[in-house]
Amino acid sequence: MKLKIGVLGLQGDVEEHIGATKLALENLGVEGEVVWVKDEEGVLSVDGLIIPGGESTVIGLLSMLGKALVAVKERALKEELPILGTCAGLIIMAKRTYDRVVGQTNQELLGIMDITVERNSFGRQKESFEVDLQIPAIGEKSFRAVFIRAPSVKEFGENVEVMAKLEDYVVGVKEGNLIGLAFHPELAEDTRVHEYFINLVQKHKSRV
Ligand code: GLN
Repeated sequence: MKLKIGVLGLQGDVEEHIGATKLALENLGVEGEVVWVKDEEGVLSVDGLIIPGGESTVIGLLSMLGKALVAVKERALKEELPILGTCAGLIIMAKRTYDRVVGQTNQELLGIMDITVERNSFGRQKESFEVDLQIPAIGEKSFRAVFIRAPSVKEFGENVEVMAKLEDYVVGVKEGNLIGLAFHPELAEDTRVHEYFINLVQKHKSRV
């Protein structure tokens, strides 16, 4: 079984995610390709999708991605397409968001995860930082997580599992085949998050 994994976007962290996913496939010995997805056709062609970081308001508004986002939403809801959203990707997957400083932003959202996400959750002096995070789902060894103007999850529905917490901040969640992370796993040397996602994609593909 050959997997096709897409990374959605027009700029931003796309290339880093493609690199990390390729490496993770290699480490797992799983056959697959990783493609840059920019439109609806691309979204319809993949077995799993990564929505990277960037500026969530911009990602949501880009008209070229508009149709692609409609297709992502449909596939997530109808086919349970596995999706990994990181940072801005997490924000876009949420049903509800607000900004810690400016409050309501009324931005375009996919609204596929039953979570409320606070944008720019960590104060100014802490805009970017790295921390050793415990993510039990990927193993006992901590993961060196990079946070950049990161969000956090403030409320979540009963079908949402918490994957990672940083002090009292929820920074990783999973709901069915949807994973949302507040940090940037593609910037770590460690490919375990991408491996975990690939396993999910593999399981899903063998079921359908
Ligand atoms: N702060 C950004 C936003 O709210 C997200 C930052 C990121 O993806 N690194 O959209």
